[in-house]
Amino acid sequence: MRYADRMNILGTETAFEVLAKARALEAKGRTIVHLEIGEPDFDTPAPIRAAAVRAIEEGFTHYTPSPGLPEIREVIAKYISQDRGLPVTADQVVVTPGGKPVITFGILATVNPGDEVIVPNPGFPIYESAVRFAGGTPVSLLLREERDFRFGAEDIEKLITPRTKMVILNSPHNPTGSVLTPKDLDEIASLLRERDIWVLSDEIYSKIIYEGTHESIATRPGMAERTILMDGFSKTYAMTGWRLGYGVMNPTVAKHVARLATNVYSCATAFVQRAASVALGGSQAEAEAMVAQFRRRRDVIIEGLKAIPGITCTKPAGAFYAFPNIRALGMKSADAERVLLEEAGVAALSGTAFGSFGEGYLRFSYANSVEQIQEGMKRLGSLVQGQAKAAR
Ligand code: PLP
Repeated sequence: MRYADRMNILGTETAFEVLAKARALEAKGRTIVHLEIGEPDFDTPAPIRAAAVRAIEEGFTHYTPSPGLPEIREVIAKYISQDRGLPVTADQVVVTPGGKPVITFGILATVNPGDEVIVPNPGFPIYESAVRFAGGTPVSLLLREERDFRFGAEDIEKLITPRTKMVILNSPHNPTGSVLTPKDLDEIASLLRERDIWVLSDEIYSKIIYEGTHESIATRPGMAERTILMDGFSKTYAMTGWRLGYGVMNPTVAKHVARLATNVYSCATAFVQRAASVALGGSQAEAEAMVAQFRRRRDVIIEGLKAIPGITCTKPAGAFYAFPNIRALGMKSADAERVLLEEAGVAALSGTAFGSFGEGYLRFSYANSVEQIQEGMKRLGSLVQGQAKAAR
């Protein structure tokens, strides 16, 4: 049997592969410390769970319009208007199963074959995958450790050509935890405003921030109509398995994205959509408590990493990932990922899972308990010590 050529260019997210390998080791009786997958270990807050159950009982078990239930699009428009200070109407909102479809559909709706898209590298691997799938060419925007993995307009400007169609921003950033400052956003907006370039702004970690505040580039003059803003419920409300996210964009792109949804999955799950209004409209105390826990865990993992000879790590300002530099260990990142899992029972990701410029780094997700993080760091420390001894 022959398969379609396009499957050769579709990438993936290796977090799911490492998770599967880790689970296979667990099935053989190994104990594994899970620091690979980016999902909160907390339960979804009870009021949100109750809202979904209520919605099932009330009969929200049928198709909804492809862009989402009208009342939920209203709730999201109101929320983004208030939270970001960005006036948004319901016709700009598309409710999706997780934030991910906004990435792929946003790209499919705007990028033509041959177009170039500037993507952060290291960065979330789905950006590059979706750009290639659309026939576009990803152009890497190198994020440097010396600059705390931030970048400025001048870094983007160097990469712009007549074929540049889109720039992808992700702040707070996966995998480095960097956060763009309001000034960074001002300068990037000034650069892009005058040009015919889209921005895909992945703001899925907008509420998981420890230093500074989150702002959207869409709020900058002239940027709303050219920005596809993505956010969702997976990370903020520990709802990864519910699959609920949304995009905010100009009404024409919203129609295109909704048509893609009609072709692929029709609509996001009706009763899951209903729970969104409780998540956004109800008390934020549980979500805030989770962020307080993440902050504590961040401090624990950074301290643990820094105590290991040969490892250094920038302090992340947001999201729940640490991206330590392991170059001094003299190992390729992919080998370090494998040895760490197989010999020490710690599941983490190679920096190269986020692009070629991730070489020399590992990514640890600290969305796990303090005890598990400490155990992971203990195992990593012993492994590094053992290897150093063997090399002597
Ligand atoms: N964008 C980034 C940067 C992410 O890290 C993730 C999840 O890991 C997503 C998007 C996908 O989020 P969702 O689960 O809502 O589809």
